[in-house]
Amino acid sequence: MAFSKVWRTIRQRGPRAALRKILAVGPVYLAGVKKWRLRRCQCCERMTIFIEPYNGSAESRSCLFCSANERYELLAEEIRGRYGNRLSELDVLELDPHSPLRNVLSAGRTYVRSFYDEGCNGAQRDGAVCEDITALTFRDSSFDLIISSEVLEHVPGLEKAFSETARVLKPGGAHIFTVPPRKSTKRRAEIVDGKVIHLEPPDYHLDPLCPQGILAFWDIGPDLAEVIPSPRLTVRIVKGPVGDLGRVVWMAEKTK
Ligand SMILES: [Zn+2]
Repeated sequence: MAFSKVWRTIRQRGPRAALRKILAVGPVYLAGVKKWRLRRCQCCERMTIFIEPYNGSAESRSCLFCSANERYELLAEEIRGRYGNRLSELDVLELDPHSPLRNVLSAGRTYVRSFYDEGCNGAQRDGAVCEDITALTFRDSSFDLIISSEVLEHVPGLEKAFSETARVLKPGGAHIFTVPPRKSTKRRAEIVDGKVIHLEPPDYHLDPLCPQGILAFWDIGPDLAEVIPSPRLTVRIVKGPVGDLGRVVWMAEKTK
């Protein structure tokens, strides 16, 4: 419902599609108007209204302008607090083509946005590049900073994702990310001979690029670094827990 999402729908699918979307979700948000709040957004830094549907949560409570919700505001705070004006000296990769963090991260020296579409590695779409985090097309030591939000839990080869992160980060660089907070780290599903084998009841997460939802292959909790050792990365929680969900921000820092 944020202006940024409405504008994107108009550009990609036309004004009628945008109007249909507003008419579909508008009443749900209007029913939650008592929960709307006026405050400054930590992501776009505007004074804004945080709108919320009547049945909403921290995940669906979002900035009317940039669509940032709790996890994107936490990431924005962490990035600004950690890098400040130095962001302009950093080469940045974000594993999301339409993130509300775009306004923050575009201050980077370079800013690459990526999306994932099976079998399309390297293809370009709407200024973003298709990348598989377990087989990135970038050269070694390409980036100072990688950002992702609610991506890693969907990667079957999480160990390979971290080794690729370590490969494309420069020494001292970092992958800062969020995943849904869980009590402990465990594999929920795996792929064997091309088939998904469920080790836990299937858990599908909503995704704007995938209307049927995407399967979570992992629960990720505070023991992540012990369960998935990454020799070239120091993996730790750098912010949180905050809010009803106990949200945290993670950092995987490449050893110098
Ligand atoms: Zn905002």
